Amino acid sequence: MEDIEHIEKEMKLIKADGRRLDGRKADELRPVRIEAGVLRRADGSAYIEWGGNKVLAAVYGPREAHPRHLQDPARALVQCRYNMAPFSVSDRKRPGPDRRSVEISKVISEAFSAVVFKEQFPRTSVDIFIEVLQADAGTRCAGLTAASVALADAGVPMRDLVASCASGKIDGVVCVDLNKEEDNFGDADCPMAIVPRTGEIVLLQMDGHLTYDEFQKAMEMSIGATHRLYELQRDALRRRYSTTLEDILKESPPVPPPPMPESELPPPPEDDFGPEGI
Ligand code: UDP
Repeated sequence: MEDIEHIEKEMKLIKADGRRLDGRKADELRPVRIEAGVLRRADGSAYIEWGGNKVLAAVYGPREAHPRHLQDPARALVQCRYNMAPFSVSDRKRPGPDRRSVEISKVISEAFSAVVFKEQFPRTSVDIFIEVLQADAGTRCAGLTAASVALADAGVPMRDLVASCASGKIDGVVCVDLNKEEDNFGDADCPMAIVPRTGEIVLLQMDGHLTYDEFQKAMEMSIGATHRLYELQRDALRRRYSTTLEDILKESPPVPPPPMPESELPPPPEDDFGPEGI
């Protein structure tokens, strides 16, 4: 135990040039790529690669809520299941739900509950599935950001998309979007999700300690990051649903086959009422 504490104290996460170990500046996000509509069987879906994270999100609904006793006669339920694949982390993760995944599922459900127009769909449920295929810290933010695109892909009416990014503190410096090393050996991690159009915060958690000023800075960084993510989310949806002139030309009408030479034409059918007829 003492050895681990010693390593943690010795571990430098910010280099002499002020950059982080992966070369990023304090306010720099890891590379993010979002793809909408990646699964055929779900009503809506999205895939996100965010640094070393690879996460799939699928959405069903609004559909009749089951079991029936859970139905709310006034509004839809928004339910999320966050799951980490056993192969998503370096030490095999035991399959199935655990305390952490139940907590993450709950906070993500609550975040989306704040934006979905639930009153339009009484007695139904909107089911969100988040599958973490590869994890490198920040999976709840990546899952939430992808799930938001999947909800839009499913056509679920919402006030806006939700974008999510964590900020934290490493070696006493406030930084955005911590990676696994920074999450493990840093001082604090504070995931947030916001509604970019209104600035409303729909998820806020904190692991570690930040002073009031550090928290203000972390929040500013996360809000800045969510605006960049919002653009990527909208781009993914535009790519999925916009049809360009090129697409239309690619789908040009089928060309009719060339006419057959006369010699290969089949003989005309015999007329029942011809000269040898009646
Ligand atoms: N992690 C792990 N095993 C687990 C849970 C988490 O190795 O059972 C790793 C994983 O890389 C995850 C990171 O620890 O992304 C940080 O986990 P945290 O609970 O902070 O959630 P996250 O940052 O992924 O939302």
